[in-house]
Formats: sequence, C-alpha cells, structure tokens
Amino acid sequence: MSKVKVGINGYGTIGKRVATAVCAQDDMEVVGVTKTRPNYEAKVAMDKGLDVYVPDSSVKAFADAGMPAAGTLRDLYGEADIIVDCTPGNVGAQYREEYADAGVKAIFQGGEDHSLTGISFNSTANYRESWGVQFSRVVSCNTTGIIRTLYPIDRRFRVQKAFVTLVRRAADPGDSKGGPINGLEPSVDLPTHHGPDVQSIMPWMDVSTMAIKASTTLMHVHTVAAQLEREVSTEDVLEVMKASPRVRLVRNGSGIKSTAEIMELSRDLGRSRGDMYEIVVWEDGVRAVGNMLYYYQAVHQESDVIPENVDCIRSMCKLEEDARESVRKTNKAMGIPN
Ligand code: NAD
Repeated sequence: MSKVKVGINGYGTIGKRVATAVCAQDDMEVVGVTKTRPNYEAKVAMDKGLDVYVPDSSVKAFADAGMPAAGTLRDLYGEADIIVDCTPGNVGAQYREEYADAGVKAIFQGGEDHSLTGISFNSTANYRESWGVQFSRVVSCNTTGIIRTLYPIDRRFRVQKAFVTLVRRAADPGDSKGGPINGLEPSVDLPTHHGPDVQSIMPWMDVSTMAIKASTTLMHVHTVAAQLEREVSTEDVLEVMKASPRVRLVRNGSGIKSTAEIMELSRDLGRSRGDMYEIVVWEDGVRAVGNMLYYYQAVHQESDVIPENVDCIRSMCKLEEDARESVRKTNKAMGIPN
C-alpha cells in the first residue's frame, strides 16, 4: 500500500514535531515542510533531508541565503494528500480557502476556532468523526489534556460536573518573546474558553475552567475537581487511569514533585526532543471523597497533541478504521507505552 503523503505548513514548535512523528510511521511520509524565512530552523530541516517549500514572496530570500527552496506552497499542495497546518493561531484560517481550492485535505491546530472546520479531533473520544473528511482540527494542548483523563472517567463513572483550573506555561522553552517572566497572570475572561473547547468533542460534558499564566516554560498543570454520579474509591479511579491511553501515572513519593522532574524523566526516557506525549497524573495526588474526585495533571504543551495529529491523519485518510488500533500503531512508532 502506498504511503499517505503529508505536507506540513509551519515548521515551528508543533510542525517540527509532527514531521518527526510522521516520519516514524510506516503508512505515511513527509513530502515537504514550509518555512517563511531562511533561518536556522529552515537550515536544520534541510540538513535532515526534508524538502522545504516557501511562499512565493520568500523564494528570492531563500535563494540569496544559498538555501534554494524545493518549491512554493502551491507546489507542495500538488505533492501532498493532506496538509497539517501548524502555522500560528488564527493564521491557519487564512489558508483554509487555499487548501479547499487545491482540493487537499487539511488538519488545523487548537489555535484555530472549532467553527473553522466544524469537526474537532481527539484520538480516543471521537476518532470516527473525522473519518474521510476534508478538514478537521486537533484541539489545543490543554483541551487534549482535559479530555485524555476526563473522557475515560466519564465513560466509567459519569461526570455530573467538572471544574478545572489551568496553570499555564507563559511561553515555550524556545521562545524568548513570551511572558510574564516573573508574575502570575489570571485570565479575567471567565469562564475561560477551554470548557467550550472540551465540549467541541464531548458536547454533553458540564465542564468549566479558569486559567492563570505562570512564569514557567516547561509544562501546564491542571487541578481537576469532578462531581461523579456515584461514590467511587480512589483505587477504582486509578484503575481507569492506568488503562487509559496516553496517560502516565507518576508518584510524588518517588521524587517526581514538579514539572521539572517530569521533564527530566522524559529526557531520561530518551524521548525525541525530551518530549512527554502522555498526560502525567500524580498517582498519590488522586483522591476520591464520596462522589467528588480530585486530581492534578501535567501537560507537556509542546508534544501531547503530536500523536493526536498522526491519528487524525489516519482517520481523515481512511488508513485505519479502529481508533484503538491507530493509537496502538502511533504509540509503538513513537515509543509511547501501549
Ligand atoms: P510556532 O510559532 O512555534 O510555529 C509556527 C510556524 O509557522 C513558525 O515556523 C512560523 O515561522 C510559521 N509561520 C508564521 N506565519 C506563517 C504563514 N503565514 N505561513 C506559513 N507559516 C507561517 O507556533 P506553534 O506553537 O507551533 O503553534 C502552531 C499551532 O499549534 C497554533 O495553532 C497553536 O495554537 C497550536 N498549538 C501550540 C502549542 C504550543 O504549546 N506551542 C500546543 C498545542 C497547539
């Protein structure tokens, strides 16, 4: 069977990781990535053997820098079965019409609104909704994090209401422009957009959220309080979490006290770029009291959505009908425990 040809528009934090993850699969391949400027990231992409395509307006700059482009964006649309749009938030929307005109499928990221595609994606909760469609959207890192744990808990125990506080990283580690660099910045537009975003995948879920931006680059941390339909034990909840795909339990008691040790763990595991694709739950921080459930989880914003993009390609390109099988394949290729 021939491999699905994947083009990646926007080769930043998410785009470069999607490229690495797609290259690791046996049923899809990267036919090109795009860069707007001939900077160090474009150079590394070329050195890795990736074909770099550029907007018409950048062709000369790349040639002048001694880094000739493989072609223009339009040329890439002709090469690809599907584009994974990893341009900055709200920029992807500007490309939708181009992708439609070129007749190429496209996946957008969480920086775009659900209304752009009308379909949003999570590997476990709604894989089949993107089956064969032209456009879909992988929800944001935070929304992916909330759904990864709340969906399996809801399926087993029925969540009546959930309340999540997000302590958000201020910027990605490779970004020297973001902030605050010393402060905590509450989002005053309440409740925050993350609850409705979860509902783009789980419309029945009664979930509301608040968020605070913190002076850290490593990960987000969520505090979750969920009211369940019935009384449960902490052990019952842990059993569900242990069986949930891409959820990793760690113990404060074993020395993983903060996001710093989680990042050290992913580097120790030898993960590409030190990434932690799983949502990390502190096992000794999970507590059920009556029908209330409390837990903390950490979200590696740079990488938790990467396996979801791979599964989304499989669903949209009809490569694998069974969600669990796609998740298993993606995990195996990326070194994520199944
Ligand atoms: P980024 O800024 O790291 O990368 C974006 C890339 O797109 C850069 O290489 C930039 O040069 C390029 N670009 C800018 N304008 C372009 C244009 N007009 N045409 C083509 N390329 C252009 O951004 P990112 O963090 O990778 O975010 C990409 C998307 O993924 C956004 O929707 C974001 O909300 C979402 N997302 C980001 C994170 C995160 O934590 N970084 C997590 C989950 C989802």
